[in-house]
Amino acid sequence: MVEIVAGPGATAVLAGDPAAAAGRLVHEMEVDGGESTTRVRLFRRLPIGAAPLTPERIAALRVELAGNAPGTPLDELAVQNRELMSALDEVRAQRDELAETNQGVMALYNELSQELEETNRGVVALYNELDERSAQLKAASEAKSRFLANVSHELRAPVTAVIGLTRLLADSGSDPLTGEQARHVDLIRGSATDLLTLVNDLLDLAKAEAGRLEPAWTEVDLRALFGQLRGTARAVITRPEVQLVVADPPTGSAVTSDEALLTQVLRNLLTNAIKFTERGTVSMELRAATGQDGWEIEVADTGIGIPPELHQRIFEEFYQVPGSSSGRTGTGLGLPYAQRLVTLLGGSLHLASEPGKGSVFTVVLPSRPMPPAPAQRDEG
Ligand code: ADP
Repeated sequence: MVEIVAGPGATAVLAGDPAAAAGRLVHEMEVDGGESTTRVRLFRRLPIGAAPLTPERIAALRVELAGNAPGTPLDELAVQNRELMSALDEVRAQRDELAETNQGVMALYNELSQELEETNRGVVALYNELDERSAQLKAASEAKSRFLANVSHELRAPVTAVIGLTRLLADSGSDPLTGEQARHVDLIRGSATDLLTLVNDLLDLAKAEAGRLEPAWTEVDLRALFGQLRGTARAVITRPEVQLVVADPPTGSAVTSDEALLTQVLRNLLTNAIKFTERGTVSMELRAATGQDGWEIEVADTGIGIPPELHQRIFEEFYQVPGSSSGRTGTGLGLPYAQRLVTLLGGSLHLASEPGKGSVFTVVLPSRPMPPAPAQRDEG
């Protein structure tokens, strides 16, 4: 308990709001206003475990409190002014520091902007160079296609003539040949036929590359197309160990495409599947495309398969998997051509294959392909 004794008039002050606020800090407060003095008693219970209030401790507390006693209002103002001045000094120091930091940040920003500008200039120059290179590449590729188209076109006539002549020589109406001569004529005809296949393939590919093939878009009846391809494939199969399964698509299945080009693609895939399959099954089936409005045509076989690292390479011109061509005819141009045609038809060609297990080539076709922009024609 603390008892404060104040002079007259204190009762009025102590009855006001500040006294009520002070009262909330203690457990009990009594203000006893007398004639000449006002007595204020403050009670506060000590918490359990607090150090006991010995006379020495009370004396020490009294000294401490006397030190904290407020001075005159003028003194208070002086103290507050001093505190304000030091706060102001601190704010000034902080402001100066901030200004310095700002300068640093600006310098860094300028430096970075300059560097960025330089890099940008470099990138733009690089882009220009790339544009130039890609134009050069395009021109070179066009020149190559033009050259191939012209050469193969020019070669076709003499090679066809050679085949015709060998037929004439072997004809029963011509002078009889010796056995040796007949064998040679056969060899010449075989080689000339291979050459003609190569020339024709080259011509097809060159035409497709030069953008000279323009699909004739029609509504293609897929059921009829499958029927026709089944007949062609059956005629190519020579081994009884290979079974052909071409599932009939549902009646009415149709796609907007170029029938002749699509037939060429599928015939090519089927011929390859038959060529590289010793035994088992060669199949073709139609499915609705996953995730888009269109069709997937899958040509699968149980043949020799293709190692995964060559899945890209077999779409390159003239590439044949080492060892795969022994005893088989081929030019290595069928797949690149098929891929070009499928792209031209607005679709894509995919491969899944494992050596010894077989291959699955999938042609994905949109139902309504966007007719591609007219290809740039170069009549030169
Ligand atoms: P070609 O059949 O005239 O050799 P392609 O371009 O059609 O040329 O095929 C390239 C190569 O890809 C083939 O030589 C062969 O090695 C491989 N290949 C293509 N289709 C198959 C298949 N169904 N199974 C195994 N290998 C294949």
